[in-house]
Amino acid sequence: MPKSKAASKAGFEPDVVVVGSGAAGGMAAYVLTRAGIKTLVLEAGRDYDPVPEKHFGFYDATANGGWDVPGEPYTNAPGSVFRWWRSRMLGGRTNHWGRHVPRFGPYDFKSHSRDGLGMDWPISYDDVAPYYDRTERLIGVYGANAGLENHPDSPPGILHTPPKPRVTELMIRAGANALGIPCVPSRYAVLTRPMDDPHAPRQACFYATPCGRGCAIGAAFQSTTSLLPMAMGTGKARIITNAMVSRIVTGPDGKATGVEYVGKDGSRHFVKARAVVLAASACETARLLLNSKDGGHPEGLANSSGQVGKNLMDTTGTNVTGHIPALENRPRYNEDGAEMAHLYIPWWLYKEQAAGKLDFPRGYHYEIGGRFSQPGAGLSLGGNEDGYGLSLKEDARRYYGAQLGFTVRGEMIPNSDSYCELDPQMKDKFGIPVLRFHWKWSQHEIRQIAHGMQTAKDIIERLGGKVVGPMLPPEQAIAVGGWIIHEVGTTRMGASASDSVTDGFGKTWDVDNLVLVDGGIFTSNAHKNPTLTIMALAWRNMDRLADRMRKNEI
Ligand SMILES: Cc1cc2nc3c(=O)[nH]c(=O)nc-3n(C[C@H](O)[C@H](O)[C@H](O)COP(=O)(O)OP(=O)(O)OC[C@H]3O[C@@H](n4cnc5c(N)ncnc54)[C@H](O)[C@@H]3O)c2cc1C
Ligand code: SF4
Repeated sequence: MPKSKAASKAGFEPDVVVVGSGAAGGMAAYVLTRAGIKTLVLEAGRDYDPVPEKHFGFYDATANGGWDVPGEPYTNAPGSVFRWWRSRMLGGRTNHWGRHVPRFGPYDFKSHSRDGLGMDWPISYDDVAPYYDRTERLIGVYGANAGLENHPDSPPGILHTPPKPRVTELMIRAGANALGIPCVPSRYAVLTRPMDDPHAPRQACFYATPCGRGCAIGAAFQSTTSLLPMAMGTGKARIITNAMVSRIVTGPDGKATGVEYVGKDGSRHFVKARAVVLAASACETARLLLNSKDGGHPEGLANSSGQVGKNLMDTTGTNVTGHIPALENRPRYNEDGAEMAHLYIPWWLYKEQAAGKLDFPRGYHYEIGGRFSQPGAGLSLGGNEDGYGLSLKEDARRYYGAQLGFTVRGEMIPNSDSYCELDPQMKDKFGIPVLRFHWKWSQHEIRQIAHGMQTAKDIIERLGGKVVGPMLPPEQAIAVGGWIIHEVGTTRMGASASDSVTDGFGKTWDVDNLVLVDGGIFTSNAHKNPTLTIMALAWRNMDRLADRMRKNEI
């Protein structure tokens, strides 16, 4: 597999500079270079190739990032707790992510019209559907069409065959179905048939290694083994790693002329380009715009609406674990499969919600778990273990593999207490002002979590089991902001320049040649994990940018 070599910019004058090489930046580079546009990717992290460098994150998956990035702090306003997971390596968080890739559905783009909360997107599902098709085909997604309300199917031939459900998953499905709850094949960006792009050949998953440590055979999608080598294969791309972009530079006409970045040795550089694409991840992109303030843009670049940094959303999250006696003392066999769940429970109560029967808006889904797997530091035996020595060994044999996990992932409504801004004092090791976060869940999210916990308990009890550990009150059980690592919304798209940062193609209202492609542009954050939508929109936005460049509008 060709290495996405960090390149010198000598002799390469880009048409477009893309900031960031993760899901959004990788897709931007792929689309632009295939349109014949010379593209320079600037990546703050180090060069990384998961094929020889399998050691990455072997123990904690955070070798080059994580909850703390050395020398790059952020702060929380008094009373707020927001955790920010960043990755500083080529490919960004696509090296780490879980790869669960459900599509947003038609309701998800127009949720304000359904319940009066938040804001509608300026685009609809039909605008994005062709890009979902293309993205799924390109990155490789296993799953199956389920024909469910607001969970769109994919056209025939796109999805890879999903792995067979595990016994534990079949059990959850039985319990859920008995309560009228669907449980269907999950969709993951993992290949179950090989893909043979000459620049990025990828093998089918052989069900053997933990994907969170990087997939050496390319079965699990990551920008580093797919989009970036394909972009490099066109001959139109260059990548500079260890390049921390500090600001976007604009000319007297208000257009972006390029970006400034700081190299590993602290050296400062300017790169000129016809257009600038920001794919630094939602909060980093907001930070870049705020740090690009100057005399003409005292509140930050592209911020005439005042919305940059606002509308910060994450996904709600909590976990409920059940111990199921019927699963005790199972015969031992290999239950690995693809690292992730083979089935999941999509949101199912749209009709009840529309009829006003629930006390919270928007939905959640369950990512389910439970299987024999390589244990971590300790065995999860559901608290049933007793004693030590032989007795403990017997308990381990009896109880291991008898726990089922329900991970709740729900939609958050944007609120005025959740946003990021520049910290007035603190700077990072590059001398760049850092972000300060403000965060608060509303009762919408708390009540939704309460429902998710109760329903998981109902399924566990239906299976004859009991919940492991205490059922905390939902306001304590809900994960802190940022913990689910689905932060979006900080540079939202909209129909009007007065209340949004970009138009429906990610083009900033204020700067004609500045296009945003990461999750910052989300107008709302459906409970469905965001990255497939990030990539589909990045493709759509880059098609538009390429078209405008062809017509010399930029
Ligand atoms: C453990 C984990 C599990 C996850 N599971 C899922 C999942 O199952 N499904 C899902 O949909 N999502 C999941 N996510 C979230 C997913 O990883 C992100 O939504 C996605 O990677 C965002 O893409 P991005 O391109 O915006 O940002 P990233 O992938 O983070 O890439 C941004 C890149 O920009 C670089 N950068 C930042 N600032 C600058 C700068 N100033 N100059 C130059 N470069 C810069 C960063 O170093 C980084 O490489 C998970 C994330 C993690 C960490
Ligand atoms: S389980 Fe499959 S997708 Fe995951 S790392 Fe191993 S081969 Fe790759």
